[in-house]
Amino acid sequence: MRPRDLLDLLLPATCWSCGAPAGPVAAPLCAACARALPWLGPGEALTRGRAVGRSFAPLAHAGPARDLVHALKFRDAPGVARLMAAHVVLRLPRGLVVPGVVLVPVPAHPGRRRRRGYDHADALARAIAERTAVPVDPLLERRSGSGEHQRGRTRTGRLAGGGPDVRARRAAPPRCVLVDDVRTTGATLEACARALRRAGARRVDAIAYARVA
Ligand SMILES: [Zn+2]
Repeated sequence: MRPRDLLDLLLPATCWSCGAPAGPVAAPLCAACARALPWLGPGEALTRGRAVGRSFAPLAHAGPARDLVHALKFRDAPGVARLMAAHVVLRLPRGLVVPGVVLVPVPAHPGRRRRRGYDHADALARAIAERTAVPVDPLLERRSGSGEHQRGRTRTGRLAGGGPDVRARRAAPPRCVLVDDVRTTGATLEACARALRRAGARRVDAIAYARVA
């Protein structure tokens, strides 16, 4: 058991979204917030990209879903990734995560990862892997100096169609599923999918926990 997990057991459990007592079972969300999760309908949850084939997000980036994303990103809250993975797997479309698929976390900005010491997309991917019995391979990396901002982005990165400057560390398996916490414009997922295809992937799908409308 990690020290943070132990701390989680010792501290009184409160809801990550509204701060109310989470009840006898130490869940990251109280019952009211769990009921208020903004699930997307099947038509909204599954979309198609260009380099990304199928792109799945079970929830809108709002209310308790947004609060869980925030908890995962900034507070390193134990249990949050596991609950988010449960939400993803509950609504997972058929054929998306199947034997032979490798989950590839969207890489965090190198500076951000150093400051926090952990990577939220990687934590979510590993929690999804635990429930689906497929492997995780963190084979993408961001080139240093390439943030979400134009400043410091290379000319090639800009010309490649937006998103961060990402590359694969080694050859990619034929079928990859990208994992990130939030999908906004889809530019980050597209940039990651292009990098995987350059490294040999033939099919790249994507999972984000929540989608910005
Ligand atoms: Zn609550």
